[in-house]
Amino acid sequence: MGPPPVIGIVCDGLRPDCVTELLMPNLHAFAREGTRFMNHRSVFPTSTRVCTSSLITGVYPRRHGLAANALFAREMKPPRVITTGQSENLIDWERALKGRLLMRRTFFQILGKNAGAILHCVSSGSAYLWNARKPARLLHPDLHWPEELRAEAEEACGPVPPAGAPDLKRCEYMLRLATEHVLPKMKPRALILHLSEPDSIQHGIGVGGSVHRQTLRGLDRLLGKFFERLDETGVRRRANILVTSDHGASSVTAMVDLEGEMEKAGLKGMGTAWTVAHSEGAALFYARRGGLKRLAPVAEFLRRAPWAGPLFSRDGKDGKGLLPGTFALGLAGCGGARGPDLLMPFQWEDEGDGLCYSSVNNKGSGGTHGSCSPWELHNFCAASGPAFHKNKEVTRPSGNIDIAPTILALAGRPVPAGMDGRPLHEGMRGAKVPKEKPVAETFEAADPGASPEYLQTLRRTRVGKRFFLDWAKLERS
Ligand SMILES: [Zn+2]
Repeated sequence: MGPPPVIGIVCDGLRPDCVTELLMPNLHAFAREGTRFMNHRSVFPTSTRVCTSSLITGVYPRRHGLAANALFAREMKPPRVITTGQSENLIDWERALKGRLLMRRTFFQILGKNAGAILHCVSSGSAYLWNARKPARLLHPDLHWPEELRAEAEEACGPVPPAGAPDLKRCEYMLRLATEHVLPKMKPRALILHLSEPDSIQHGIGVGGSVHRQTLRGLDRLLGKFFERLDETGVRRRANILVTSDHGASSVTAMVDLEGEMEKAGLKGMGTAWTVAHSEGAALFYARRGGLKRLAPVAEFLRRAPWAGPLFSRDGKDGKGLLPGTFALGLAGCGGARGPDLLMPFQWEDEGDGLCYSSVNNKGSGGTHGSCSPWELHNFCAASGPAFHKNKEVTRPSGNIDIAPTILALAGRPVPAGMDGRPLHEGMRGAKVPKEKPVAETFEAADPGASPEYLQTLRRTRVGKRFFLDWAKLERS
């Protein structure tokens, strides 16, 4: 018998405040019986493909190079702005990058050829990233690796059901395929299940309300059945199971026609001197001709726009961006070789279930993510299995940069020194927990000459070498 398998379940967009005894009793019990990480953080921008890339590489976005869900790919032919949701776009970009889609190795690559399996029902772009360089076996409604896996899966569980709203049938199919075929037949060292709910319904209708609650209950029933099946087959006793989400979610306050607003303001150079890529709850600006100074009027315009949040630009000194009155991208783990020159998360409000402006929403005007509100940055994480403590709540901050190192540690593999995260030792039995005291850090930025006056504030918590972004906002007077 080999080492115990690691099973990672990513419930897309699941917020920690949704995992209550009333709404999600099975997941709540799973977390209570094992270890629940009470202060877990996503990465920024809180967009699925950015978060997927951090989950698999264990680094902040500035180091893996996938800056947003829509980005400017300098290496490609015009118009160069691509959305990363479709695997075809990533394949084109990968070709232009000569194979180096992500700038870091993934834990599946480190585990070795065919040691892992991925069952995925979110976008084909996210699925493609999970299996970057194709070390693992992948099953997605539109994407398989290797190709014969599709027939194998159909023989075991029938065809993948069509997408729905809520998308619970597909989630159910993937969970069933895991227990009926993948775990017993393929015996992966690490299995990742990336499920489309509750993110899919949150995009459609926002956070809260009866349909949202029903979807959470439905997802929880499926997870309950999955855990039961793992119990019956004896897998639960041996396996280490992590359940997390890639990011949280906000309801949309209003949709913004970003390019239209900039055109109306008479901003010059759009599409020639600089380019914008909007990515749900954030927009990325890239200087093309004339350098960063061509983006100064854009930053000035955004500062006055009521829907624009705090601005981040190329790293200057002491957490300040090179554009006056902005934060350094690096302060939030962004930027780097493939990063934008200026990044604007949309403004958010700390009301109700969390509200945020957005320029892109693929399912109407319901909900979104991508910004830097606590509602989107705080996400769910719990673990259970022989390697984890029972009945433990970890209050020290942790994050999705820690998932790849944790999976490697659980699989008995050394964690590469280049990862930003580290194993979740606080939850692991017999692990030496580093003596690191969490330190709250607050940063402020303003341009004293700006009218009207404004103040940007960013809060993050540092734990040893890691930091976790709590929120960042812009207040106008
Ligand atoms: Zn997502």
